Amino acid sequence: MAAYEYETHEYDVVVVGAGGAGLRATLGMAEQGLRTACVTKVFPTRSHTVAAQGGIAASLSNMGPDHWQWHMYDTVKGSDWLGDTDAMEYLAREAPKAVYELEHYGVPFSRTEKGEIYQRPFGGHTTEFGEGPPVQRTCAAADRTGHAILHTLYGQSLKQQAEFYIEYFAIDLLMSEDGQCQGVLAWKLDDGTMHVFSAKMVVLATGGYGRAYFSATSAHTCTGDGGGMIARAGLPLQDMEFVQFHPTGIYGAGCLITEGARGEGGYLTNSEGERFMERYAPTYKDLASRDVVSRCMTMEIREGRGVGPNKDHIHLHLNHLPPETLALRLPGISESARIFAGVDLTKEPIPVLPTVHYNMGGIPTNYWGEVLNPTKDNPDATAPGLMAVGEAGCASVHGANRLGSNSLIDLVVFGRAAAIRAATVVDLATAVPTPSTASIEKALSRFDTLRHADGQTPTAELRLEMQKTMQSDAAVFRTDKTLAEGVEKMEAVAGKMADIKVTDRTLIWNSDLMETLELTNLMPNALATVVGAEARKESRGAHAHEDYPDRDDKTWRKHSLAWVDGTKTRLDYRPVHLDPLTTEEKGGIDLKKIAPKARVY
Ligand SMILES: Cc1cc2nc3c(=O)[nH]c(=O)nc-3n(C[C@H](O)[C@H](O)[C@H](O)COP(=O)(O)OP(=O)(O)OC[C@H]3O[C@@H](n4cnc5c(N)ncnc54)[C@H](O)[C@@H]3O)c2cc1C
Repeated sequence: MAAYEYETHEYDVVVVGAGGAGLRATLGMAEQGLRTACVTKVFPTRSHTVAAQGGIAASLSNMGPDHWQWHMYDTVKGSDWLGDTDAMEYLAREAPKAVYELEHYGVPFSRTEKGEIYQRPFGGHTTEFGEGPPVQRTCAAADRTGHAILHTLYGQSLKQQAEFYIEYFAIDLLMSEDGQCQGVLAWKLDDGTMHVFSAKMVVLATGGYGRAYFSATSAHTCTGDGGGMIARAGLPLQDMEFVQFHPTGIYGAGCLITEGARGEGGYLTNSEGERFMERYAPTYKDLASRDVVSRCMTMEIREGRGVGPNKDHIHLHLNHLPPETLALRLPGISESARIFAGVDLTKEPIPVLPTVHYNMGGIPTNYWGEVLNPTKDNPDATAPGLMAVGEAGCASVHGANRLGSNSLIDLVVFGRAAAIRAATVVDLATAVPTPSTASIEKALSRFDTLRHADGQTPTAELRLEMQKTMQSDAAVFRTDKTLAEGVEKMEAVAGKMADIKVTDRTLIWNSDLMETLELTNLMPNALATVVGAEARKESRGAHAHEDYPDRDDKTWRKHSLAWVDGTKTRLDYRPVHLDPLTTEEKGGIDLKKIAPKARVY
């Protein structure tokens, strides 16, 4: 191996990731007087959180009656009874506080006439434990809520003297022999230097892994790096089979075309020009729920009625609508279609595909963000020195399906919780641990091997093969047959990592090598997803299984755990937390209200 020099840095806390979750954790840690560094591969305000438009859920009651218990109920039901009850209570209860804190930090929320934070309705958010009308619970800064949150939190973190290491790529966790996380190794992308960050606590806030699929609404940087590092540290990933799809992402580019396009009268057609949704959903047609429309589109493609030269997508028509309506109601969509599909939507249909939108699964944590390392005796045992927050983590509040606007609130509630917890578990008096030479050498050697990889398969080619496999066999349409094929194919694809070819051997702005490192992270995420899905013989939330159409609480109300080692995945399960934080006598929710029942909207 080539010899690598490295610079060392010591902090109480190192946060990896500067999206909404990483920045909220960084800010909270720095406020508590912990010496905090934030390491990020992209500039903080370029994290995927910037793309979140809709808003952030909290029961502020600014637009009508609301209650944290109603929010909790909606979240439990949305999760299809797979979320952890204590974590969901914590989320719903702490949400208003977390939003008011954002307001005081300076997030420019839209306002009501009275000057209060404006809130809009969102799918699945209701009143009276699902018995009342929809609620306006989603706080918004126009249609750029994520953008506003990121800019505010970045400014506040700088004010609190948090230190930023921008365009540093975290390669691996540095673990002690006895399983304590002692830091992280990072590669500085613009000058090629190596950096060892030693820390008493490492917080993974690396976002989702949407890019394991061919079509994803998430940024190209959403490559599940935290999950990859966790798998290599011998720790499990949780509930990875639950992946949320949105019906209309632009084919190829994946950018989101809002449901509003069909709301304004848009419709879908197959290669025969047929409006196929009329066949599947005679009443709601193109406006059936997201998972239903996604499933029907996938059936059409599988049965050979997809459009385009590869018959692998569907057409969304808006060209029958008056151009004035399009300009007035869907200006953003007109622009996206032009830029990303090269289509003038007043004249032609937009090529679309069900598109990965969110990963419910991730690194298992408790509601303080502490990473779990479940054992037979203790399913809630924690891994010392390690936390995970945001889409990378799984607390688990979204269970089998996430409600819109519940992710942004998850980022800030649990980013904040991690900081509160760190203030009690991180001892300021003790010395920062020194990561072992062996752990540093191991990480450097993995890096060096990839840098000099001289096989036959270029990274882009293998990545595409993985993405196509996941898109066809671990997407919306799931049967015993497709999933079994998916497992077999994905194991073969992961095996080809041994034959990877990296062409650029330099260390400065080497995107070839960076994408290869990212591919090594996407692989374990993808494997855990397809293997977990193959094993789960029921339908729950986003996991709709054609051969087992019903939810089976008796056997399957449990979290999947997946340990991925190379091409091999070992599965086990841990119980769902059924107990809330607070009993009914002490003001908590009546457990009868959240008892499992059919999930109908
Ligand atoms: C188009 C779109 C619209 C959405 N709209 C909404 C909405 O309206 N409401 C809502 O609640 N949710 C929405 N979501 C979901 C929500 O935005 C995301 O789940 C959330 O923003 C994820 O935030 P995060 O902080 O976990 O990660 P991200 O924002 O993805 O940030 C990840 C961070 O990790 C860093 N990182 C990753 N790997 C490494 C590495 N190896 N080394 C160093 N740094 C690394 C990156 O640099 C980045 O800073 C939307 C998602 C999308 C894609």
